[in-house]
Formats: sequence, structure tokens, C-alpha cells
Amino acid sequence: MSISVEAKPLYVPPLEEVASVLQNGLKKNFAEVHVSVVECPDLSQEPFCLEGKGLCGSPRLSDVGGVPHLLPSPLKDKVYNIKELAASVDLPEAFVIGAGAGPHEYIGVNSELMANTLTGKTASNGSRVAKIDSSGNNELLKLPESETGCSLMLNMFACEGRTGQVLRILAKKRTGSLNFVTCLRQALTDHYGDKAVGLGGTFRMVQGSAKCHVMPDFSSSPISCEDELNQWLRFFELPSPMVFLSTLVSRDPGMDLRLEHSHGYGKEYGGHYHYDTTPETVEYQGFYNVAEFMYRVDRPKVTHSFGRN
Ligand SMILES: [Zn+2]
Repeated sequence: MSISVEAKPLYVPPLEEVASVLQNGLKKNFAEVHVSVVECPDLSQEPFCLEGKGLCGSPRLSDVGGVPHLLPSPLKDKVYNIKELAASVDLPEAFVIGAGAGPHEYIGVNSELMANTLTGKTASNGSRVAKIDSSGNNELLKLPESETGCSLMLNMFACEGRTGQVLRILAKKRTGSLNFVTCLRQALTDHYGDKAVGLGGTFRMVQGSAKCHVMPDFSSSPISCEDELNQWLRFFELPSPMVFLSTLVSRDPGMDLRLEHSHGYGKEYGGHYHYDTTPETVEYQGFYNVAEFMYRVDRPKVTHSFGRN
């Protein structure tokens, strides 16, 4: 049985315009902000060390599966492969980054996935997972070259991995209540209204710490609301430096989307980004590109809206 795929074009404003929209939005929430359009640095090099070089060439977002595949009770047969997901967004030779759930069939338990994979002829895999180890600690694992699976959900950005013009976003010292990614998204929503604008990319937290969660192994009892979910999740305050893989879209054009999702990792730990806990000292450096299409793959048949933060 093949999985369902829908696609819609996103609104693609000029990069310079997006830069000024983000600059104005971030200024409401951070003391120091600088957003510009630059040639994408080689992201395969330090300090990002991703599998692809750049965020350009047919950029697109895909929302695969979703939280309803995890909650209230996990659908463990919802397993995907990033190679197939790249083909499902019409880009079989892709640089794929994003946030999702790890391949539980390989890991043995439920986990957080930091997807970072090149598919096609020059395939390579730098994806990592963060899981709760047997002592209850946050454990980071790098997946082997051959393991490109994921499960339940994945919010991915895919492109040809080329260099080209992208957004460079610097923000320091948080003065408002929004986290870095929500602030980007809110700026786009406020400016573009009914038009859906999507971004995908990567950011580093170079100073400060972030509250992140890691899903423990699957719950044996159903989780039916936000409170029960927060009881089940394991939360950590993780220190910089961390690299995050990130997607966001300004509004949902009727596709039952998760509007933002970012996972990241440091040397020995990782997880799902909520917000920084160090507003005075936090510092972010990001590179994003504007996506041309939003894909919706294996959209959950039964849906709900909790657990999408
Ligand atoms: Zn997540």
C-alpha cells in the first residue's frame, strides 16, 4: 500500500522582503537582531557539520504523519524511510533535514529524531536520535549510514543541497516571551496573513541553554490531553552549543499541519526545542530558506490538536 501525498504551492516572497519582515518581528523579542540575505555557507563544514552543503535547489517542506499517530495511543506500524519520503516530495536526490520520531524498530524504543540525510547517488546519513537511556538520562546516538528510518511523524525540509542565497538570522538576548522559532513564524503570520509562507533550515544556539523534551518509550496507557502529555515527556535544560534542524509555516492552508518543529543536539544530548531558559545570555545564529511547496504525506485519518507545541 502506498502512502497518501498531497501538495500545495506556498507563497514565495523575495528573500530581501522576508529578511526585513523577520528583522522587524525579531526586534520585538530580542535585544540584538540582524537578518540578511547571504550566500549559504558550506553547512557540511564546522560549525554545522550537516550532510548537505546548502539549503538551495527546489526547497520544499513536508509534514509526514503527525502527533495523532503517537497520541492518544501509538500506531507503531507508522514507519517511514527518509529515502522514500524524499521521493514522495518529488526530490529523490535530496538533502533532508528536520524533526520527527526516531526509528523505534532499530532503536528499540521511542525517540526523538534529528534528520540530516542525503539521499540518491551520493547518499550519506548524519541523522541522530535522542532517547531516554536505562538510567533515565538523555542519550544521543548517531544513526549508521544504512539506517534512514523514522516513525510516527516527521517535519522535513528537502532541497537539492546546493548553495545559493539564503536568510542569515542572528538574534541575541531575548526580551520577549516568544521562543526563537515561534518569533520567526509569528512575524511571517502577522505580515503575510492568509498567504502561507514556509521556512526550513538550521540554527545554532551558541550561548545559553534550552528547555527540550525527549519522549520516553511508548506509554502503555493512552495520553489524552496536554497535561497527561507533559507528565509523560521528559524535560531537560540543555546547554549550548547545540545545532537545531527546523521547519515552520506561517499558517495552515487546510492540510492539518504542525506549524513549527525543531529538534537539536549537542555533543552528548539532544531533544525537541521548546524555548531558551537563559534570556539574558542566549544567542542564536540561523540559516533558513523559503520553501516553494508544502507536502502532506500520510495525513492522519483521525486528528486532534494537542501536543503540537
Ligand atoms: Zn519534536
